[in-house]
Amino acid sequence: MVIAGGSIAAATTAQALRAHGFEGGITLLSDEIHAPYSRVPLSKGVLSGKETLDSAALPELGEDVAVRLGARVTELRPKEQRLVLVGGEHVPYDGLVIATGARPRRLAAPDQTGEYVVRTLEDATRLKGRIGTAESVLVVGGGVLGMEVASTCNELGLAVTVVDRDPPLRRLLGAWLADRVVESAVERGVRFVRAPEGVRLVGSPEVTGVDCGDRRLNADVVVSAVGDIANTDWLAGSGLLHGADLVVDERCRVAPDIVAAGDVTVTRAEDGTVRRSPHWTSAVLQGQAAARSLLDGDAAPVPRADPYYWTEQFGLDIKMSGDIPADTEPTVLAGDPRRGSGLLQWQDRGRPVAAVSMNHRVPVAKLKKLGARASVTA
Ligand SMILES: Cc1cc2nc3c(=O)[nH]c(=O)nc-3n(C[C@H](O)[C@H](O)[C@H](O)COP(=O)(O)OP(=O)(O)OC[C@H]3O[C@@H](n4cnc5c(N)ncnc54)[C@H](O)[C@@H]3O)c2cc1C
Repeated sequence: MVIAGGSIAAATTAQALRAHGFEGGITLLSDEIHAPYSRVPLSKGVLSGKETLDSAALPELGEDVAVRLGARVTELRPKEQRLVLVGGEHVPYDGLVIATGARPRRLAAPDQTGEYVVRTLEDATRLKGRIGTAESVLVVGGGVLGMEVASTCNELGLAVTVVDRDPPLRRLLGAWLADRVVESAVERGVRFVRAPEGVRLVGSPEVTGVDCGDRRLNADVVVSAVGDIANTDWLAGSGLLHGADLVVDERCRVAPDIVAAGDVTVTRAEDGTVRRSPHWTSAVLQGQAAARSLLDGDAAPVPRADPYYWTEQFGLDIKMSGDIPADTEPTVLAGDPRRGSGLLQWQDRGRPVAAVSMNHRVPVAKLKKLGARASVTA
């Protein structure tokens, strides 16, 4: 089995192949120079300096998994069942796992330098070094990643501005919870700017700020957190893509003997719309499902949809299960969220659809039971 990719989806698939009895060779091809690590602390503890770079490492894969670092895959030839690496080497496979994840979307023009992003260990190290000598930071993008970076910079004493087209965090957290987090950020001195027309990075060659249409904002450091792009380019000639999308079925299958997992994938709903779920838990669940599919085909179990995410920012430790509705208020099951802690549940026509713990200790299994799908199938 050959796995293209070097992070949580790739590592999980390798482990799951072994756990389910696969005894043949497993080769993991990663274009990074580090053994697989978690990105989760990069915007949090690693950026703040509370956690070391080593703490991000994922548990080592056994000696029976050949991990090849600096091995960038450039082409897939499914008919020949082989991959081509950057130096021209061909790697044959019996079963292939595509787990090449995603990369940050960038806003800088080709001649601009100094736009920071946070995706890799190198990105986090570079940004950490820069904010260590800076006084102000401008974060473009008020999604979860942007807000975590903003929170860490705020904690480190920088003057922080977050600029976004839309109100921050609403897509994942819904309006009610997003507003609580923003209140907490504002209390800590973070400034929010709406730029309905979007922003343009300014400065030449070094980026020094953004143009928001009606005004210009400057800062020592500009960080873009404006979404990511699935790493599917190397699959362009494979015949497997729908546009730029790598669509997996309910068992993470793409084609005979080819499966995929993690941020690189999209799933298609019954109405034809495609959906990405670029989160840690999805990558783990898909990695496990992909391994089972390679080994057992149609007999592999269909993984249960199990949306579960978390974020830490502005003094709030938030864990979410289910899909939080855009505009509904939750029922408070415990605590007092307006004082910064609580256990919350959202319902739709009397049925639970999501649950959140905010600075409130609750076992994950219980939270999942209170949240959407677990409650419905329980
Ligand atoms: C800073 C940060 C913080 C996050 N925090 C959270 C959080 O708190 N909670 C949460 O649920 N999720 C969080 N996430 C999201 C989570 O980390 C991702 O969903 C997860 O990393 C996806 O794993 P993956 O293995 O699918 O892809 P990736 O992590 O993108 O890994 C893909 C790997 O494949 C390699 N690769 C790419 N192209 C090639 C190629 N052509 N050849 C060989 N190798 C290649 C890449 O270098 C990389 O090693 C965070 C993400 C970031 C960036």
